[in-house]
Amino acid sequence: MTRFFALLVVLGFSAPSCLADDLPPSSWQLMVTGQRFVAGQAQDPSQSSQSVQIDDRVWLDAAGNYLWLTHSEWPGGIKFQYRQFGTANGGARMDVTKWRDGIWLQRSDAAKAKQDYVDQTYLLPALLQTQLRGATGQLVANSSSVERTNTGTDAAGRPVTWTYNDHGQLLSVAQPQTRYEYLDYPDANPGSQPARIWIYRGGQQIADLQVARQVAELPADFQQIPLGYVDKPTPSSAKATLLAPGVYRIDQTPSGYHTGVVIGRDGIAVFDAPIDAKEAAANKAIIRQLAPTLPIKYIVVSHSHRDHVGGLLALLDPATQVITGVGGQQALQRLFGSSMPHQVREISQQEQLSLGDRHIALWPLRSSHAHDMLVAADVTSGTVFQGDLFYLPEVGPIPPAFPLTAELVQLLNRHIPAWRQLVGVHGRTATPTDVRQSVRLRTQVDKSKP
Ligand SMILES: [Zn+2]
Repeated sequence: MTRFFALLVVLGFSAPSCLADDLPPSSWQLMVTGQRFVAGQAQDPSQSSQSVQIDDRVWLDAAGNYLWLTHSEWPGGIKFQYRQFGTANGGARMDVTKWRDGIWLQRSDAAKAKQDYVDQTYLLPALLQTQLRGATGQLVANSSSVERTNTGTDAAGRPVTWTYNDHGQLLSVAQPQTRYEYLDYPDANPGSQPARIWIYRGGQQIADLQVARQVAELPADFQQIPLGYVDKPTPSSAKATLLAPGVYRIDQTPSGYHTGVVIGRDGIAVFDAPIDAKEAAANKAIIRQLAPTLPIKYIVVSHSHRDHVGGLLALLDPATQVITGVGGQQALQRLFGSSMPHQVREISQQEQLSLGDRHIALWPLRSSHAHDMLVAADVTSGTVFQGDLFYLPEVGPIPPAFPLTAELVQLLNRHIPAWRQLVGVHGRTATPTDVRQSVRLRTQVDKSKP
C-alpha cells in the first residue's frame, strides 16, 4: 500500500466531500482538550506553574486558512474565550466574551497570520509533515529505519529538527525554543493522528493535549468579525492620569497594563510592577516627574503573578520596601533568583503603611485566584488597588463578573464600604456602580444556565 493511499484511508476517505473528487481531504477540524502549564501564574505561590484546563476547536486547511476558538479556565473561575482566524492576507483575534479586551480587535498582518497558521499545523502532524522542508529544500522522504532525524525549516521558515518512525509518522519536532512530541498513534498509517501531544518550552513541559481530528470544511463565516468590534488603537506614550489628589494611574504603556501611584509627604507607594524591566523603568521615570525628590517607599504587590511583578527590580529605590501577601516572597525568589530584592516583607494580617500625611490600608486575602493576594486602599481618597479580582475592559460594555469578584466585594463591604474607585493592572478604573452592575450580570448569567 502506498503511503499516499494510506493517508486517504486514515484521514477519512469515506467522507462525501472526498469521494466526490477522489482527493485526500484538505481541511480538518481538531478538538483540542487537556492542560497547559503556565509558569508564574500559580494559585499557590509555592508552585512554579499553574495547570489550566483548555477546550479548543481548530479548523484549518492545506491552503493556509484557519479558525481557532479557545476556551480556558483559570483559578477563581476566570474564563478566557477568544476567536482567532487567519488567511494568506492576514488575520484577527477577538475576545468573545469581551471582558478582557472588550471590543478591541487585534489584527495580524500576513506574516503573523502565516506563523499563527503554521503553529496550528503542529497539532496536525500529517499536514505539518507535508510542509517541513529538508536542508536541501526537498520534501522529506519516508524511511525504512526505525527512527530518523532530519533538519530543515517549517513553513514559517523556522529551523527545526524532527524525528519520525519507520511508518513515516512524526515523533517529535523541535524548534529552537519549543519542542512537540507526538504520542499514542492509533495505528501504523503514516497519516494517522496521534491522540496525545506534549509541548515543551525551554525544557519545561507547557502542555499535555488530547487531540482528535475529523475531516471538515472551515465554517463559511470563519473570517467574519461580529458587529461591535473596533481595531485596537496603538498606545500613544505612557503618562500618569490623575485619579484623586496625589493618586495616579500610569496609562498608555506598551503592554496596556497599569501601575497605581500614591504620593504622600514622606514618599511614594506604587501598586504592582508590570510587566518587565523596560516598561517599569519608563514608569519610574514618570513617577520621578510627578515627585522628583521623594523616594519610592513601598511597592505593594497585589499578587505574585508574573504580569504583576515582572518589572519589580526596575522600580526599587535603595530603601524601598516590597510588600506581598503570604507566600509572595517564595514566588519572587523563584522569579528573580539572585537578583531578588532584600527588602521583601510578607504581611498576614490587616496593616497600614504611612506616607506621612496619608495612609495605605492593606488587607491580605487568600483568594481563589492567588493565595498571596493583597488588596490595598488609599484611605483619604477611597481609591482601592487590586489585581485580577475584578475586571473591566478598557473599552466596551460592562461584562458579567467572575466568581472571585465576590471575594473582593465581601472584603470591601467589611473594611472600606465607602470606597470610590477601583484600580487594577488590567482594564479601566471602576466605580462602585460598575462593580454592582457586573455582579448583577453574573447573577443573571447563572440563572439563565440550564
Ligand atoms: Zn493573576
